[in-house]
Amino acid sequence: MKIIKSIKLLRKEIASLRKKGKTVGFIPTMGYFHEGHLSLMRQSVKENDVSVVSLFVNPVQFGPKEDLSRYPRDMKRDASLAAGAGVDILFAPSVAEMYPSELLTHVHVDALSDGLCGAFRSGHFSGVVTVVAKLVNIVLPDVMYLGQKDAQQAVVIKKMIKDLDFALRVKVCPTLREPDGLAMSSRNIFLSPTERKEAAALSKSLRLARQKILKGESDASKIVSQIKKLILDETSASILYVVCVSVADLKPVRRIEKDVLLALAVKFPSARLIDNEIVTIKKRC
Ligand code: AMP
Repeated sequence: MKIIKSIKLLRKEIASLRKKGKTVGFIPTMGYFHEGHLSLMRQSVKENDVSVVSLFVNPVQFGPKEDLSRYPRDMKRDASLAAGAGVDILFAPSVAEMYPSELLTHVHVDALSDGLCGAFRSGHFSGVVTVVAKLVNIVLPDVMYLGQKDAQQAVVIKKMIKDLDFALRVKVCPTLREPDGLAMSSRNIFLSPTERKEAAALSKSLRLARQKILKGESDASKIVSQIKKLILDETSASILYVVCVSVADLKPVRRIEKDVLLALAVKFPSARLIDNEIVTIKKRC
């Protein structure tokens, strides 16, 4: 696996691969890899001639009071895990390489960026789609792999790709979980042992809600209340949001008649966690 830190060198490498007719899969990440990241890498390796992973903790998507400086980093371990997953190129630029001068251009996806996490993290999705637009422009992949774990992020990025006619396909891959159901996340290491135990309640609440919907409950507010109650009963976290929204446009749903996204964010004293579940509705007769 090649580790490349310069945009110029990466472009040269990709151009030469393209000349040979190679297809390119791309996985944007902020590093500190876990099985969730590795599953995206393996999927790309399976489906493309060449797989490129970017490792860049993007300062533009962090708010002033967020955890940019303490975001976990371990380049050596990440490089060895990516190589083990079959990745060909690890692109790990510095902040100065990505933002050599003051950034005056931002990509913003209206409406889809405003609710859910966007309501609590002002400017976050603008920072995400701006860096993804830059990375896609540098790597020029055929396919980009994203995780369902970050459901809103996937919806926002897909809309940007569509609206701006970027020539690539996006594949959203399933959320990988710990044995007790907790969605894998680089931030899980911040959790205290008690918080880590309690955090299993997040996926549990979503799973139970899903079962209730599949058994016929169609009142979204009841489902949301049940999720909130279970989290408040079983954890010390404060709830930032729990929503039941349309999968396509993230708009709140009152009656559950089509596929919905149940999504939540909570704040433990040590870390902010998100999780979600898509519930596919078979036509009721
Ligand atoms: P991050 O490094 O957290 O920015 O994540 C990089 C990519 O990995 C994003 O597309 C995430 O949605 C995806 N990802 C993060 N956690 C998981 C997980 N538990 N399962 C699957 N994909 C994930």
